[in-house]
Amino acid sequence: MAARILVIEDEEKFARFIEMELTHEGYEVAKAFDGRSGLELAELGQFDLILLDIMLPGLNGMEVLRRLRRSSSVPVIMLTARDSVIDKVSGLDSGADDYITKPFAIEELLARIRTALRKSNAAVEAKILTAGKLRLDVGRRQVAYEDTPVELTKREFDLLQYLMENKGLVMSREMLLEQVWGYDYAGETNVVDVYVRFLRIKIDERFGVRLIATVRGVGYVIRDE
Ligand code: CA
Repeated sequence: MAARILVIEDEEKFARFIEMELTHEGYEVAKAFDGRSGLELAELGQFDLILLDIMLPGLNGMEVLRRLRRSSSVPVIMLTARDSVIDKVSGLDSGADDYITKPFAIEELLARIRTALRKSNAAVEAKILTAGKLRLDVGRRQVAYEDTPVELTKREFDLLQYLMENKGLVMSREMLLEQVWGYDYAGETNVVDVYVRFLRIKIDERFGVRLIATVRGVGYVIRDE
């Protein structure tokens, strides 16, 4: 499937030029000519990569990036007209994956796009945890057993993620409480038992498997069945 790229650039002729070149390379391209509409499109989350100009009317590129990063880890390449060290540093600080200074050769832009897409594909793949046929997608916060989605609350998801990250290792109630509920949590370790029970109802009992095991007197462990 073609990677989808969003170009946020107020110089419309330049945006069209990039669109033409990227389309020619087989990418699907959408454009926005100002920061606010660019951010709105970006937040729909349907893009594999974003080319973001820094100098934009209304909402500038830095601000678009800062807001986008609250909810998205989509790769972003900043386009800057100024070859300023400050721009580069603050761009990378606020979560840009790369930057390119205008004017640039289209070949260089294409090379950087390929690199950014490759890195992000690798990162997404690395974020899938499994136990038996259960799959947990850390980035998308989704869980599925085979192809059936499993709906979990935030706490259930966090608990399951922690168990899956430590697959095969027995986790004590105290450890789970500390890692999933946080150091400040004033409750009893019983709350861990309650949430493990919720997970078993939604996963083990529903799909007729035994992924989450109790180790008496110690805690819980998730295994590949
Ligand atoms: Ca501009």
